[in-house]
Amino acid sequence: MGIQTFGPPERLAALDGMADTQLDLLVIGGGITGAGLARDAALRGLVVGLVEKDDFGAGTSSRSSKLVHGGVRYLAYGDVALVRESAHERKALGAIAPHLVHALPFVFPLFKGDSKAKFRVGFSMFDKLADSKPHERHRVLTAAEIRERAPALREPLTGGFLFMEYITDDARLTLENAISAARHGAFVANHAAVTSFLVQGGRLVGARIRDELDGRTRDVHAAVVVNATGPWAEETIGLGDSAAPKHVLPSKGIHLVFHADRLPLQGAVALKSPSGREGFAIRRWDYVYVGTSDVAHDGPLDHPVADRDAIEDVLRMAQDCFPSLGLTDADVVSTWAGLRPLIAEAGKAPRDTSRHDEVWRSPEGLLSIVGGKLTTYRRMAERVMEHVGRELGRDLGNSDRTAVEPLSGGDLGGLGFDAWRETTEAGLAARGVSPAATERITWLYGAEVAELLRLGDEDPAWLEPLAPGSVALRGEVKLAVEQGMAMSLADILDRRTALLLFSDDHGVAAAPAAAAIAGELLGWDEGKVAAQLDAYRRLAVAHGMTRPGAATGSASAVALAPPA
Ligand SMILES: Cc1cc2nc3c(=O)[nH]c(=O)nc-3n(C[C@H](O)[C@H](O)[C@H](O)COP(=O)(O)OP(=O)(O)OC[C@H]3O[C@@H](n4cnc5c(N)ncnc54)[C@H](O)[C@@H]3O)c2cc1C
Repeated sequence: MGIQTFGPPERLAALDGMADTQLDLLVIGGGITGAGLARDAALRGLVVGLVEKDDFGAGTSSRSSKLVHGGVRYLAYGDVALVRESAHERKALGAIAPHLVHALPFVFPLFKGDSKAKFRVGFSMFDKLADSKPHERHRVLTAAEIRERAPALREPLTGGFLFMEYITDDARLTLENAISAARHGAFVANHAAVTSFLVQGGRLVGARIRDELDGRTRDVHAAVVVNATGPWAEETIGLGDSAAPKHVLPSKGIHLVFHADRLPLQGAVALKSPSGREGFAIRRWDYVYVGTSDVAHDGPLDHPVADRDAIEDVLRMAQDCFPSLGLTDADVVSTWAGLRPLIAEAGKAPRDTSRHDEVWRSPEGLLSIVGGKLTTYRRMAERVMEHVGRELGRDLGNSDRTAVEPLSGGDLGGLGFDAWRETTEAGLAARGVSPAATERITWLYGAEVAELLRLGDEDPAWLEPLAPGSVALRGEVKLAVEQGMAMSLADILDRRTALLLFSDDHGVAAAPAAAAIAGELLGWDEGKVAAQLDAYRRLAVAHGMTRPGAATGSASAVALAPPA
């Protein structure tokens, strides 16, 4: 068993530890793919290191559509194996992380001219392949029932279907895999980049790692090195002497976040505009996000933002699908963009490119896992581990424990999520925590809420909001640093608390208090606090602030008139 806390001292100890130890496996990249792989390998007893150049989930794994897919859309491509795998995975993830896999009733509306029979066959086939539980099976909805769930949806509706998807917090799922890897003995560090490879006699024996916070480099030796750097996979291969066997095609997808009072919706709805543009709208807390795009990206890979063309495209779809709402750019609370690490296929546009994953081996022995989905990360890890076993010449067993052992917030003491939430809500209410904060906290942290309650019992000030009206609590910052290895304000307000994308002001009002608490824990001086605040405000601008009355202008605001 490894560490129980996961903060700055553990980060440094992990970096020193991996430099002083001959590892079985070094994993590069702390997105869901790398974090899931490190967890799997640690659970099988391997000596593992995991390094992430930015923060856990800072790449694509905090910028997805946040769905644990059943995979119904893969049926359209005839990809039965992927449907089966995705459906199996939603069950496995629901078991290990009930706090991060929330049922999301999804409406699939039909409009005049759509064939009900065709879709009915598709949904029935899906339920069979997915072995859907009774409450998950699709059912037919009347137009009136659809209007109840999505009141402003365009006409002429003829009816439709309801099926079940699941919504997660991608960044938290990634972090909890990293935490679990560390708890099972892995050396895990964020803000640590692989800058070059160590090669002896033509064979890869490790990597040079630079601590991005203090600039110190360390050489880490490992029998096997896995490149799990998603969109950066080709760039990472390029640190060595050989070229990638195929190209990675980063495909950019964006989302726009609206207030649910401007775009009322229960659950989620598949969108199809009269011109045929398809997408979806998903309710999360008091917000609804609309996505997405699928466009080849040839700009820098770090920190992509939603560009004007993509915002216009997705906003236009939202306007066309909800014409009575008069949505404009001023209704966009925030935006985000992510890069899908697709494997390029000659002559195919990103939208038509398969989401499958592959493992590549370089002549020097670097293994690269490329492609895939958030939903299927556990199975991807299992496939990589087969290759790792071959490289090590050992039978490493299977991935069964990764589907059974709860993640850090997933151990709800034998209760189902709803029963657990009820008791926990009562505890938070008794301590004066607002219902909005409570909903967010239970949904995100699961069993880790106990730690917040413990802090509140030590000093009730930890349960106070970070700023008047903020849904985030002061104790969340302490938890983010000491139990979540957050090292910057962006780590805290974006990936630990979700304020960047899911609060009206992107967490800007909460930032000074968060910086003061984090600064004390991380030893920031005044200059560092000011620099962190400045960097965070720039991040907030890049992700939106388009609403009237927002503190600054938007880097991404578009001037689109409401539809006539
Ligand atoms: C718009 C969009 C919507 C999506 N929606 C869904 C969805 O709803 N459901 C679903 O299942 N999947 C979805 N996906 C797919 C899913 O998000 C990705 O497949 C997954 O997040 C990729 O994870 P990854 O770990 O491979 O890559 P990443 O999350 O990008 O992780 C790679 C990491 O490697 C790090 N790194 C890079 N170079 C180095 C280096 N030299 N040293 C150390 N670290 C390095 C990066 O900082 C990064 O954090 C979506 C993707 C997009 C873009």
